[in-house]
Amino acid sequence: MNKSKLALLLLAAAVPVTALLPLPDFWIAQLNYIGLYALVSLGLVLLTGVGGLTSFGQAAFVGIGAYTTAWLTLNLGMSPWLTVFVGLGLTALSALVVGFITLRMSGHYLPLATIAWGLALYYLMGNLDALGKYDGLLGLKSLSIGSLDIGQGRWFFVLTWAIVLAGAVALLNLLDSRPGRAIRSLKTGSQMAEAMGISTFRYKVTIFLIAALFASVAGWLLAHFQRTVNPSAFGLKMGIEYLFMTVVGGVGYVWGAIVGAGLIKLLDDYLQVALPALIGTSGSYEVIVFGVAMVLVLKYLPDGLWSVVASKFPRPQRVVDWHGADDLPTRSKPATGDLVLQVDKIRKQFGGLTAVNDISFEIAAGQIVGLIGPNGAGKSTTFNLITGVLGKTSGQVKFRGEEITALASRDISRKGMARTFQHVKMIPDMTVLENVALGAYTRGHKGVLASMLRINHAEEQRLMKEAQRQLERIGMGAYLHEQAGNLAMGPQRLMEIARALCCDPALLLLDEPAAGLRHKEKQALAQVLRQLQGEGMSILLVEHDMDLVMDVCDHLVVMEFGTLLTRGTPAEIQASPAVRAAYLGTEH
Ligand code: ADP
Ligand code: MG
Repeated sequence: MNKSKLALLLLAAAVPVTALLPLPDFWIAQLNYIGLYALVSLGLVLLTGVGGLTSFGQAAFVGIGAYTTAWLTLNLGMSPWLTVFVGLGLTALSALVVGFITLRMSGHYLPLATIAWGLALYYLMGNLDALGKYDGLLGLKSLSIGSLDIGQGRWFFVLTWAIVLAGAVALLNLLDSRPGRAIRSLKTGSQMAEAMGISTFRYKVTIFLIAALFASVAGWLLAHFQRTVNPSAFGLKMGIEYLFMTVVGGVGYVWGAIVGAGLIKLLDDYLQVALPALIGTSGSYEVIVFGVAMVLVLKYLPDGLWSVVASKFPRPQRVVDWHGADDLPTRSKPATGDLVLQVDKIRKQFGGLTAVNDISFEIAAGQIVGLIGPNGAGKSTTFNLITGVLGKTSGQVKFRGEEITALASRDISRKGMARTFQHVKMIPDMTVLENVALGAYTRGHKGVLASMLRINHAEEQRLMKEAQRQLERIGMGAYLHEQAGNLAMGPQRLMEIARALCCDPALLLLDEPAAGLRHKEKQALAQVLRQLQGEGMSILLVEHDMDLVMDVCDHLVVMEFGTLLTRGTPAEIQASPAVRAAYLGTEH
């Protein structure tokens, strides 16, 4: 048994033991509140900490869960064990509406929209007669099973913390899975994730939904614990406090949610008494202290309190036990000589600037084609037009005979065109193996729920086996468990190639793979490229290093100022006066 499983087991055992301890009722009630807040904060760890999306509106989702059960049990006499699902349904509906409207837009739209959403719901709850206006709804029943009241004190403590622990385990399982790796890639920007075939929009909506559902369950519990609901518990101030808890505890750390919830709850209670006594008048001064504390934490401990604990306990190394796993199915490959890529007069205009001016060329299976030219010639833009990152002004691209001109980059990647980036894009806090497994995303199918419940084991084994195989294929077998962010530039670039190979491509596009590499590393890279070619891979290589290009390429396409200068074999290009002029004129 590894350390984290042991810690989890101890924690699970601590819940009933705590319930049996002769603690004063006050402390049990405090722990109940902390559990409820931790549940909301857990959702925010996923949304904000891991996914990089900020929501101030979680309190509103707590409110939906609370008011739904309050209204239904009081007015229709429904059982609370049913109303929780109605609450989840209503929460899901509103989260999807808010998410679909705002998550396509980048930047600050989500935080702003969640503030608006939080305020709107607060005033709605406070003004509807049916919801008791600002007095709220009173006289809810405690949760019970038969005649056993489990809605208060120690029973409620066990119930709440069992849900919190189950939620934490589900999140930990999710983060260590195929969809989890996709979620963790969101923070690095959408370009890399989309190039791996991931719909970033879908995952943003998904984590927004999961966070909202966690909040809704907390609201359901809270309503029956307090036996009354009123808008003040679900306003923007609470929304901000939930975010505090997550940030202070440790954005990105599942256990940090519990630490943060505990700390903020206790501090909140203390300050609400201490500050007015100190200042002499009553008021919500604690908000000011929280504001200052949050700024300090963000400045001096940006990963939150839990990061200190986490650094003391390094993550246990993944056990390599997938040798017996089945291989992933592979796609059919083009026969040697077949045309893999046909680029026909593609053009890109940025306003008045023609960055790519009617460029045409082809790549046959098993060929390495180099795309060269001075800085600013339009190589990267050409690359982005082919891979679907940028839309074309005009022109056509065919991949294996099929028209792909209008496809998005994730759909092109699904067809078997894989790429690396001029500036390495990876998830620094994941291991090399996990980063590379991200490349095999489109070859797996298990979703979020299966991952949370850990019924994705067989598929995970297959994905890990493939990632290891691709790393070994290019000589990176010794780096499996290294944290990707700690790698030097050379291994980082090789890791990107292994990740691209994981999608089982028929064409590999490499954007300046030798940039920043030392001489030895360049030789190793050339060796890898020749070996891949020997295995039948077709490669489009954008590269500045002329030695490497002349060494490995079969055919060269030379660009200057967006236009095609000339094309030919390396020997022909080296002899060309026009190419010499272009390079001597601009680079030297
Ligand atoms: P290379 O990769 O060959 O160095 P690029 O394809 O990056 O060249 O750039 C080609 C030209 O297009 C340059 O003049 C560059 O300034 C311009 N360019 C590239 N991207 C954009 C953009 N998003 N908006 C406007 N101009 C751009
Ligand atoms: Mg470039």
